[in-house]
Amino acid sequence: MMIQGSCCCGRVKFEITQPPKMMGTCHCSRCRKVGASTFVMVSRSTLKWIQGAEAVTRYAPEPPFKYARCFCSICGTALGEIDSEADTFPVAAQALDDDPQVRNRFHEFVAAKPPWYEICDGAKQFAEHPS
Ligand SMILES: [Zn+2]
Ligand SMILES: [Zn+2]
Repeated sequence: MMIQGSCCCGRVKFEITQPPKMMGTCHCSRCRKVGASTFVMVSRSTLKWIQGAEAVTRYAPEPPFKYARCFCSICGTALGEIDSEADTFPVAAQALDDDPQVRNRFHEFVAAKPPWYEICDGAKQFAEHPS
């Protein structure tokens, strides 16, 4: 089954050929500010580009932060680490157009969660990174 993903302006389009391994939500300020708090873990072998890979910009933060974040250079839609060389990497769930067939498994960095965000599911909560 194919799960389609795209950015807001439509330049970036991709497919995931199998349901992602899992979904998680990170409440750290980094994920929150780029609008990618909820993510799915995608195996690189299941990611197929349709168009727009060249429109993806990578933001690599200064240390101590280490996770680069990708976004559409035209409309700014967060895409997670979609250009990663790793076997498995996070893709922002809001970029998906189809049901990824997985539901949120955990909340991490809950200690950094803003007060206006209320956790409304029963998924496990971790104050920081799940250990
Ligand atoms: Zn776009
Ligand atoms: Zn985070």
